[in-house]
Amino acid sequence: MHDPVLVVHGGAWAIPDDMVEAHLKGVRSAMAAGWRALERGGTALDAVEEAVVIMEDDETFDAGRGSFLNRDGKVQLDALIMDGSTLRTGGVGCVEHLRNPVRAARKILSESPHVYFVADGAEKFASEHGIPLCENGDLIIPREIERLREFQSRLTSESQEDARDLFAPTISHDTVGAVALDSKGNIAAATSTGGTLNKAPGRLGDSSLIGCGCYADNKSAAASTTGWGEPIMKLVLAKWAADRVLAGNLPEWAAAEAINYLESRLNGHGGMILLDARGHYGIAHNTPRMAWAVKTANREHVAIEHHT
Ligand code: ASP
Repeated sequence: MHDPVLVVHGGAWAIPDDMVEAHLKGVRSAMAAGWRALERGGTALDAVEEAVVIMEDDETFDAGRGSFLNRDGKVQLDALIMDGSTLRTGGVGCVEHLRNPVRAARKILSESPHVYFVADGAEKFASEHGIPLCENGDLIIPREIERLREFQSRLTSESQEDARDLFAPTISHDTVGAVALDSKGNIAAATSTGGTLNKAPGRLGDSSLIGCGCYADNKSAAASTTGWGEPIMKLVLAKWAADRVLAGNLPEWAAAEAINYLESRLNGHGGMILLDARGHYGIAHNTPRMAWAVKTANREHVAIEHHT
């Protein structure tokens, strides 16, 4: 028997003071839901799924309802879930009619010989497996319509060079994720996102790509990342960090090194949670803030800052 561990995050960026409370509340609720799953004897997979569902349902975050809008004013969602004991994985990309993409990803993991479904095919698979579809409009909230309008009007009035500010650490990165260790000693990870503001339709980020925004292998580690997705995927950052754990390093060190590498190699910004099958975990980010929560048998901690 192993003592369970659960770590969740709700994005890494310069979370403004007036949004701190909502982020803390969101990651706390996600942690509680994931922990309940573990207490009921659920697996690490169950725990990360339940934790992520809570944050997809919470409009604070860039996942599920309340996500950033793409260039066409639509919500387009990506999610991945991975089981470290079997390496079974389920991912969805560019879905527009699912409230909880992580639920569809879990169904793919457990009921499909395939790993990854995108767009209409993903929605068809979900609906055939009992997951109801919704209107894209059900995922859109006024705050995001306004945010897109404001961003697009700035784009037309400023040079393309300035538009790169989109990827500055001050810009919202509210992707959500969780990593867990269950009492059988298995680890799992899940990540869910609405991607980046004003993204081109069909753009897929790192979050739902194996080894980039999410990864889990009992032999190394479970990871979930957030931040500007293009640099993260070029560096296959979640796997990069897991490989350092496999080589004998502690997750705390490997997560910090991964974020250092992201910045030094590609000037990327973001954050990572990393957990090994012995229950060691790491939390790192190079953004001013990152919303995270961790729970073990003897520790519960919810925070918005964690300097590495
Ligand atoms: N990594 C996500 C993406 O690029 C965005 C985020 O973490 O907020 O799609």
